Amino acid sequence: MRMSQLYSPTLREVPAEAEIVSHQLMLRAGMLRRSAAGIYTYLPLGLRVIRKVEEIIREEMNAIDGQEVLLPIIQPAELWHETGRWADYGDEMFRLVDRNNREFCLGPTHEEIITALIRSEVRSYRQLPLRLYQIQNRYRDEIRPRFGLMRGREFIMKDMYSFDRDEEGLDQSYWAAYHAYERIFKRCGVLARPVEADSGAIGGDITHEFMVLADSGEDLVLYCPDCDYAANVEKAECRPIESQAKDSALFKPVEEIHTPGSSTIEQITEFLKVKPEDCIKTLIYTADDKPIAALVRGDHTLNEIKLQKVLGCETLELADDETIHKLTGAPVGFAGPIGLDIPLYADYSITNMINAVVGGNKQDTHLVNANLGRDFTVTQTADLREGEPGDPCPRCEGHLVGARGIEVGQVFKLGTKYSSALNASFLDESGKECPIIMGCYGIGVGRTVAAVIEQNHDKDGICWPMSIAPYHVIIVPVSIKDQEQASVANAIYNKLEDAGVEVVLDDRNERPGVKFKDADLIGFPIRVTIGPKSLKQGKVEITMRRTKEQIALPVDDVVDHVVKLVKS
Ligand code: ATP
Ligand code: MG
Repeated sequence: MRMSQLYSPTLREVPAEAEIVSHQLMLRAGMLRRSAAGIYTYLPLGLRVIRKVEEIIREEMNAIDGQEVLLPIIQPAELWHETGRWADYGDEMFRLVDRNNREFCLGPTHEEIITALIRSEVRSYRQLPLRLYQIQNRYRDEIRPRFGLMRGREFIMKDMYSFDRDEEGLDQSYWAAYHAYERIFKRCGVLARPVEADSGAIGGDITHEFMVLADSGEDLVLYCPDCDYAANVEKAECRPIESQAKDSALFKPVEEIHTPGSSTIEQITEFLKVKPEDCIKTLIYTADDKPIAALVRGDHTLNEIKLQKVLGCETLELADDETIHKLTGAPVGFAGPIGLDIPLYADYSITNMINAVVGGNKQDTHLVNANLGRDFTVTQTADLREGEPGDPCPRCEGHLVGARGIEVGQVFKLGTKYSSALNASFLDESGKECPIIMGCYGIGVGRTVAAVIEQNHDKDGICWPMSIAPYHVIIVPVSIKDQEQASVANAIYNKLEDAGVEVVLDDRNERPGVKFKDADLIGFPIRVTIGPKSLKQGKVEITMRRTKEQIALPVDDVVDHVVKLVKS
């Protein structure tokens, strides 16, 4: 490709619309243009990278016996009614009607479509296992589309679905996909950490998210530097705390304190000159229409997902002001466990607190010196709080570290959730009808490209890993008007092309500074510079984009050397 013909309009300025570096660089390097919020056109360089990532994914999916299909973008509402997700999906779903008033959506995901496909044709255990995947546009009307390809409303996803006879088969499919994901991200040149994630409020299903650690990430990850443990903050386990025999001689008498207007932990700690870890927060919820209270230490955050699992309830919502008033006799902010006549669920960390500050169940009132066992009892203690950096690792003696992460992929054991809802079953050896056991496995293609840039750039631009660079090499003659330079450049260009190297020749009549800047911005891994000085000695220069390492080589050796670099 000749640079004079390549459609890659580069920008000198950082576009105002772009907040994070990958978005800025993709716009500046002429890879991407915005069409509407979260909707983009891929320009030639951007599309080449996307296609390379797709090809790596395809190879690895084929290697685990995945078969590629292409499912429709436009999906009939009826299928979504069968699983109940037409209603559940809410505003994130793009919906439309055809000329006959039939309802459709633009596929945000494809569990319904693929399960409906399978149910009509897979009847026997002999047809299983089956792994089908596609690489396809996805549509989600995200509340906050942002960060370019990171969170689009139209984006490309690879999704694979596995269909097995039993749990054992599902386990094999799951770990095959998990390990394929490890290979995919490694081949794309990005470090992605598998982390345990939450699979939704109910059910013991397993799921891992693949997280690229980066400051721009929207997720919070906790990981142990001493072992493999890593989890999304929603999922991170907190170690149980053994309840210790408390010395009741230390218990002071409960005292009622007038605390006007102090309804938050900040206000109460300020007012009473105590630390947040000396206070107990009492949060009142409505769980399947019944009130319960959750107790967590003042410096902790309640994790609603954990609470819902402990309760085993379908719905869980913070109680409204009126309910709280009715139960506690006080406005919001003064609830406490003493004398509160509803089931109380306490986080482990409450167990060994002594002389705690609690709400007084009365307007503008708190109680000090509250002690579990003496002044109140609880229905259950459990792991109810959100994990935090510094927490003990649940698996080893280390301590957890926090980091921000970009979720580039997720693997999920679905079990029979969709096969039951959509009646996808098979007959086993004994002729018994059983639901098919499913798994699903997604990778955001564009988000992966953006994450690669987040991890691979410097102040001058992108440093593409060779495996997904839009082109491997750029040849820059310092002056294209110079006949000798031009002819050496052309000769190297032709030979590299013949050797199967993806190469761009910068044949523009521009100042060398401009050409070097563009080369660095776009991020070609290798630059071959043909300048008057070295050419006098029969040499040209090779510069590695990432390290800026430079060597001069005789003109005749360049092609072999570059081919080796590209292949390694
Ligand atoms: P998120 O929590 O970031 O919204 P998700 O968990 O809803 O993502 P999945 O349904 O698991 O996403 O989709 C599989 C993959 O698709 C994700 O791991 C991510 O890489 C990608 N993805 C999801 N939503 C978007 C989006 N709006 N833009 C780009 N990629 C996305
Ligand atoms: Mg996900």
